[in-house]
Amino acid sequence: MNPERRRLLGWGAAVAAGTALAPGLRLVELARARSAGEAASMLQRWGLLIDAAKCGDCDACVTACSEENGLASHGRPQTDSHWIRKVSLRDERSGYAQALPVMCQHCEHPPCVDVCPTGASFRRADGIVLVDRHTCIGCRYCIMACPYGARVFVHEAVTGQKPDVPRGKGTAEACTLCVQRVDRGEAPACAVACNRDGGGAMTFGDLNDAAGELRRRLAAAPSTEIRPDLALGTGVRYQGV
Ligand code: SF4
Repeated sequence: MNPERRRLLGWGAAVAAGTALAPGLRLVELARARSAGEAASMLQRWGLLIDAAKCGDCDACVTACSEENGLASHGRPQTDSHWIRKVSLRDERSGYAQALPVMCQHCEHPPCVDVCPTGASFRRADGIVLVDRHTCIGCRYCIMACPYGARVFVHEAVTGQKPDVPRGKGTAEACTLCVQRVDRGEAPACAVACNRDGGGAMTFGDLNDAAGELRRRLAAAPSTEIRPDLALGTGVRYQGV
């Protein structure tokens, strides 16, 4: 193990045991030590292509996300956690209406990571943006910084938690691209459900794989990011908008 990483992990154990942080050591450094040990590779950049022309009025993606990640409803829409939501668009002149799913866009330059004071918000080498629940202090800066309204705050005590989807009351959270599934070599639950029960509007894949299905579809028709003017380099792209 790298001596610097060993030193930081040693301090992490001290913090977990309730010992005060050493002078000069910040939580964000502990978070960086954690990221250095992750298994994700920058050879991949995981992404999602959503064809709005194929997205109907079903909510198969929303339901699948809730089931996969154990997002229970408390009957209070303003405070329930939803990691993916259907957004309706309507052209005022033509009246043409569309609905498309919006979730964390897994930005290459994520503002949520920039503003996080503890390093709890972080971007993996493969482009997936996550929150470390153990380091999140619930300040909600990331929720305010995200231009897509993708992050939510956990107001309720978490029940029925999935063992591979750590969550916690008093922390921020968002779509993880079903990282637990991706790390097993599976596609996110929303994309699987869309292709099984919906209109087949979602394609998950590796944006770095020139021979892959995702890149093939991106090359076949124009696509866009939401708010491309922000130049955040989103991993989620849209066609047919
Ligand atoms: Fe962060 Fe929002 Fe971008 Fe997701 S969409 S990476 S939460 S800024």
